[in-house]
Amino acid sequence: MKTIGIIGGMSYESSIHYYERINKQVNDLVGNLTCAKMIFYNVNFEEIRQLMLSGDWEKIAIELGNIAKTLESAGADYIAIATNTIHKVADYIQSQLSIPLIHIADCVAQKCQKGNISTVGLLGTKYTMVEDFLKNRLEQNGLQVSTPNKEEQINEIDRIIFDELCKGEIKKTSKEYFISVINNMIKEKDIKGIILGCTEIEMLIKPEDISIPLFDTTQSHIDSIVDYCLEREN
Ligand code: GLU
Repeated sequence: MKTIGIIGGMSYESSIHYYERINKQVNDLVGNLTCAKMIFYNVNFEEIRQLMLSGDWEKIAIELGNIAKTLESAGADYIAIATNTIHKVADYIQSQLSIPLIHIADCVAQKCQKGNISTVGLLGTKYTMVEDFLKNRLEQNGLQVSTPNKEEQINEIDRIIFDELCKGEIKKTSKEYFISVINNMIKEKDIKGIILGCTEIEMLIKPEDISIPLFDTTQSHIDSIVDYCLEREN
């Protein structure tokens, strides 16, 4: 079995799912008392959030690059960053390593391809929806990606993620808001699938809430991590 190095804590609400499901899926596949070999580095998300708000992505890249190197020296065979937004600095982090980084966008794109869906909507933080770092990577994997085009929708989705979901708050009004944005995108942009491009959205939106296939980055990332861990073909 290979050892996973995970950078988590962004938020800890979604990192719990990584820890729990990676172990459970490995155990379901192998049995007995088997669980995953994992080195989990939990950052203080408030420190990272303040750097995001001040736009200091260089410092975020350097700090997380150093953490990734620490995990490599501690024996990790590969690295996963348990959040979409921080993939804005994924190329820098990979450049600091001699082991692979499992990119969250590649994992979810693979699920879309398996489901024969190539035209997708993408929801996530403002960074993920407005900037190109995740979209480009999805497009490199053959997907056509749209995001909500109204600024107020982007701001409200971002607010719900940071003010509610990252604190573990699940509100009916927020769920209804997300569903209305998705339904608008289905109507206006003719998307055939929706990517939950933020590791907390799956706590709010379930496949049965919408009429098109849903592709969740958290579960897609976890499935790939398990495959790498057990050296399975996927
Ligand atoms: N976990 C979220 C994501 O997947 C947002 C928190 C963050 O900015 O890292 O993008």
